[in-house]
Amino acid sequence: MPIRQLSDQLASQIAAGEVVERPFSVVKELVENAIDAAATTIHIEVRGGGRQLVQVADNGAGISAAELETAFLRHATSKINRVEDLNSILTLGFRGEALAAISAVSQVMVVSRAASDPAGTRLLLAGGHKTERETVGAPQGTIIAVENLFYNTPARLKFLKGETTERRLIDEFVTRYALAYPNIRFRLTHDGRITFQTSGSGSRLDVLAAVYGPETARQLLEIGQEEREGEERGERGEEREHPLRLDVSGYVAPPSLHWANRSHITLFMNGRYIRDNSLTYAIIQAYHTLLPIGRYPLALVFLQIPPEEVDVNVHPTKIEVRFRHSDAIFGAVQKSVRRTLLAEAPIRHMGAWATSQLSTPSPNWHGSLDEHAFIPRAESLQTPLELEWSSPDAPLSPATDLQPSLPTPPHTGEKLPIMRVVGQVGAAYIITEGPEGIFLIDQHAAHERILYEQFMAQWDKNSVSSQGLVAGTAVYLSPSQATLLESNLDSMKKLGFHIEPFGPNAFMVRAVPTLLLKLDPAQAVQTVVADLERGDEPLQDRIEAKIIRRVCKTAAIKAGQTLSVVEMDTLIRQLEACHTPFTCPHGRPTLIHLSATQLAREFGRI
Ligand code: ADP
Ligand code: MG
Repeated sequence: MPIRQLSDQLASQIAAGEVVERPFSVVKELVENAIDAAATTIHIEVRGGGRQLVQVADNGAGISAAELETAFLRHATSKINRVEDLNSILTLGFRGEALAAISAVSQVMVVSRAASDPAGTRLLLAGGHKTERETVGAPQGTIIAVENLFYNTPARLKFLKGETTERRLIDEFVTRYALAYPNIRFRLTHDGRITFQTSGSGSRLDVLAAVYGPETARQLLEIGQEEREGEERGERGEEREHPLRLDVSGYVAPPSLHWANRSHITLFMNGRYIRDNSLTYAIIQAYHTLLPIGRYPLALVFLQIPPEEVDVNVHPTKIEVRFRHSDAIFGAVQKSVRRTLLAEAPIRHMGAWATSQLSTPSPNWHGSLDEHAFIPRAESLQTPLELEWSSPDAPLSPATDLQPSLPTPPHTGEKLPIMRVVGQVGAAYIITEGPEGIFLIDQHAAHERILYEQFMAQWDKNSVSSQGLVAGTAVYLSPSQATLLESNLDSMKKLGFHIEPFGPNAFMVRAVPTLLLKLDPAQAVQTVVADLERGDEPLQDRIEAKIIRRVCKTAAIKAGQTLSVVEMDTLIRQLEACHTPFTCPHGRPTLIHLSATQLAREFGRI
């Protein structure tokens, strides 16, 4: 075939494929245009999962009659003008591609009126060509209806996913933008039925309630609003001329709420929904040791960052962005979320958690108790003592930093109240009484937490003490495990394990951390090696933190071990001294609290 330049029509259809991949892309582009036009009401109407129809109506600025055709040309935009403008993008669009791309592969009807125009204009296009134009009466704003998407690109049509997938993407998109723009009234209809709407009241909590239900919304924690300076970690700091102005806001769920995957972690940057694996991980990290393994938080995080700090022009869909100082942003997000979580009293949520695990009074219980069944309230319930919470501005011990690699959040972790040991059940749980009811403590999880914090305290001071074993213990490993351990002997040494090669694939453990004297050294080394084999932690300091968690777990007393009152008492005192006493380092709860009120309620006293 001879070389020829493609016709405009074909070139547009090819280019359109990048911007308009699927019906959901049409919704995205049109809604983003409406937001850029400063609309306060946006109605989205979808039929057939968007394949039949996507119509977006807004009351924004409108497009003037003189410019309406231009808006549908490729690379036609009102949002940037010069190349420098790319450094200061605050609008969602700027590439001038969407309307051209959409109209190239569908049949479009647009009615728009700008405030300065006396009337509106109605334009019809098919496959990118104008078929009709007329002046019409219309309110200020824009309605764009996109019908029969991909009618002229059968190849694309064949690859479309089912209607339900498309609906889900559209729903997720609209709810996200409703959360980001609580001032805008959104209404979404699928096949004539309203499926989602917001009031535009400006309250993000209202939208959260509409999206997640009032019960979840009520429990969410607001991320500290103050503008913070992002912090560079490592040597990069010197390169930077100005400290990064970065604001992190939004909402996160308390650790008592968690989900099976990370799809509830939503990130916005300067009003744009973005996907960023690293920042998502920063949020998950902030919940480190607070959530059960394999569970994920809900988070809605808004970043405000000077536009020159970020490149949004990475991909036509603008969903992935590049930050100039991504480490600083990672640190700031992780820190703000962590601080928010630790500033909240975990016990309140533990209380909520415990309640939900317990049988609530039967709704069928209508029994009315004889007055005399009650001892007068004042006598029956001990007046709550003044709780001895840790003072909020008590100096921080380094032990609170669960990730040695990350900056210590200046938090005020709430401590346990003083408790009295009542006894042990099932050789697994300790019952105690506190000023505010009963606590059931999982002895293994609690001891794990104690060992972990003690260990971390030494670790942070670089003073992990170790104790020589009278007779060394030999450990035999497979060749690959041996290589792995060999390359980590230094880390192990820093952690207090002195291990020497001892013949082919064998090692001799000469000393163990003093804190973990009760540990079976061979077993501990084997577990650690098994963990290293799984090798999902790329960073050295994370490997070390993981080893610490692992050995503490191995060394902790197990369920099934009967404890003397003195032992239980020691354990409780040590748990009281912990900074994050409510969960084990792997995120399982260490205790369940049954408040006096709850007991009274359970017994029908109140
Ligand atoms: P971009 O959003 O990247 O500028 P588009 O192709 O999406 O490119 O839109 C082209 C232009 O049309 C926009 O720059 C804007 O001026 C105008 N426009 C599109 N949609 C609307 C709307 N809903 N209200 C007002 N103006 C709009
Ligand atoms: Mg646009």
